[in-house]
Amino acid sequence: MEDEDDYDYKMKIIFTGDMGVGKTKIIQRYTRKMYYEKDMPATIGVEFHWKRVYLKDEDVKIKALIWDTSGSERYRAVTVGHYRDSLGAVLVFDITDANTFESLDFWLKDLKRSVRKECVMALLPNKIDLISGNSEKRQVSEEQIVEFAKKNGLLYLGECSAKDDINVTETLDQLVFEIKEKQ
Ligand code: GDP
Ligand code: MG
Repeated sequence: MEDEDDYDYKMKIIFTGDMGVGKTKIIQRYTRKMYYEKDMPATIGVEFHWKRVYLKDEDVKIKALIWDTSGSERYRAVTVGHYRDSLGAVLVFDITDANTFESLDFWLKDLKRSVRKECVMALLPNKIDLISGNSEKRQVSEEQIVEFAKKNGLLYLGECSAKDDINVTETLDQLVFEIKEKQ
C-alpha cells in the first residue's frame, strides 16, 4: 500500500465539462491505469481520487487530489463550493460531439467565477480513438481547438483517448508540473 501522507506537495485538480465526455474515464485512466468498459453509475455531485505524481528529473513527490464533478445542472450547488481551493482545472469535451465543445464557454465562465486567478487550466479533447480510420466522425477541428486554448490561456498538449490511453498521463503530468512551478 502506498502511504497517502508521504508527499512534498499536495494539490487539488477539478474536472469539468458536459456529461458523457469522458471525465470519469480519464480520471480512472490517470489515477488507476484502468478503463472499465462497463459504465459505473453517474457521478453524483463530487467524488475524489488521488494519485502520487513523480516529476521527471525532480526529487519531489506530489499528491494530486482529483475531483470528479458531475456535468449535470442538478448538482451545481454541490459542485461550485468544491472549486474554490483548486490549483488546477481540466476542461473536457468530446471531439465527436460539437455541442460539448460549444459548452466550454459556459464551463469556463463557471470556473472563472469560482476558482482563484492562479488556477492553471488545461483543455483535454477526448475520444480520438473514435476517429482513427473514421475521420468523418470528427466534429471539431484541431485549428478550432488550438485557437480556443490560445484565446483562453489554456494548457493544451493534444487530443486524448481515455480508452486507448493516449495523451492522458502526458497532459495531466504536465498540468501537475505547471501547478507546482507556480507554488
Ligand atoms: P463523464 O460523464 O464525463 O464522466 O463521462 P464518462 O467517463 O462516464 O464516459 C461517458 C461515456 O463515454 C462512457 O460510455 C464511456 O465508455 C465513453 N468514453 C469515455 N472515454 C472514452 C474514450 O476515450 N473513447 C471512447 N470511445 N469512449 C469513451
Ligand atoms: Mg462522470
